[in-house]
Amino acid sequence: MLIKTLLNKIEKFSSFVYSKIYFGVRGFKDCIIVEVHHRKKSKGKCPICLRRCSTYDTSQKARLFSYVPLWGYPVYFSYKPRRVHCKEHGILTEYLPWSNGKERITTTYKIFLGHWAKRLSWAEVAEVFRTSWDSVASSVKWVVEYGLEHRMLDKIYSIGIDEIQVFKGHHYMTLVYQIDAHCKRLLWCGKDRTSKTLLRFFRFLGKEKALLLKYVCTDMWQPYLRVIKKKVPQALNILDRFHIMKKFNEAIDTIRREEYRLNDESQPYLKNARWVLLKREENLTDKQFLKLKDLLKRELKSIKAYLLKKDFLRFWDYKYKKSAAKFLKKWCTRTNRTKLGPMKKVSKMLSERQELIMNWFDTNPRLSSGIIEGFNNKAKLTIKKAYGFKDEKYLKYALYLTLGKLPMPKVTHRFNC
Ligand SMILES: [Zn+2]
Repeated sequence: MLIKTLLNKIEKFSSFVYSKIYFGVRGFKDCIIVEVHHRKKSKGKCPICLRRCSTYDTSQKARLFSYVPLWGYPVYFSYKPRRVHCKEHGILTEYLPWSNGKERITTTYKIFLGHWAKRLSWAEVAEVFRTSWDSVASSVKWVVEYGLEHRMLDKIYSIGIDEIQVFKGHHYMTLVYQIDAHCKRLLWCGKDRTSKTLLRFFRFLGKEKALLLKYVCTDMWQPYLRVIKKKVPQALNILDRFHIMKKFNEAIDTIRREEYRLNDESQPYLKNARWVLLKREENLTDKQFLKLKDLLKRELKSIKAYLLKKDFLRFWDYKYKKSAAKFLKKWCTRTNRTKLGPMKKVSKMLSERQELIMNWFDTNPRLSSGIIEGFNNKAKLTIKKAYGFKDEKYLKYALYLTLGKLPMPKVTHRFNC
């Protein structure tokens, strides 16, 4: 089969035809050049109003637009664009259906690279398809902007707010997810984790949609709580499981570090024990599991704290609010009798925030407790994959691309992804 036949099957443009296809050299590399011509009697379209207009002149020099590579060879469309004379918009370079005109990369290729950037790091995509990092970045940007413009923002009833550390040092980003049973996705992300950040989100969402919100899951970060109270007083503010359990982990870690430092005898046991104590039991590796089994035999403060956390996990399984509240009270009393300062702090926090925590039992249908944690893990992975990004702007594109469930532009042919 000729390449031309293949192209006509997957990428046919009315008013344009594929002509000669040959090997060329670009940047000292072999490539496939696909000459494109407009049909003889066809008129070019104005790029603004898409009306057919008379030709003003035709470029003598062909422009190259990169297309999806074939058998490892870069592919370029080569076309000499016309300038058209639109009565309304003046003299302009004609509309080209395969590209936005200014960029030298075809729309199909942008979508192709955007798809792959969901799975691989951008540097890997550039390497595999022998293109530049900039081309991948601009493709992702284009795909994301298209998606943001075309996504539907209706029927949003439950949201989850999370903050995540980005780059080195204390740089944060606030991520807002939709966590409804019918749709779970990243809705918005913004710099910092201040009240202003969250106010920006509510400005983006608009008053009308904010009024529809029933549930807002957050951690106990005071600036967020204040804004939620002010902006969505009708919604139930819930402190979610992920953020509460994070406090437990922080407490256990503090206890472990202190014990390691002050108690020489415990050192050999507590060495490399951090993740053994922080990870969920079902996520431990075999080696970590054996280590945990051994640790559990020891009289250690860290283990006492670990067992208190493990016991608290039962809280999330309660069906009835009253029983859960009873359990919470008992757990706090028991913890307060120990000498574990950081755990007592957790207990204090739970008592103080009890109302917001108990709200979780009032959601109907019960919100899944793992959603925000799942999103947080995926976001962290995306940030890790995006390692090397200096610019927060790109990080946002990467997050929207992987977590935003954005609609993709329609293409006549879907490549292998
Ligand atoms: Zn026009």
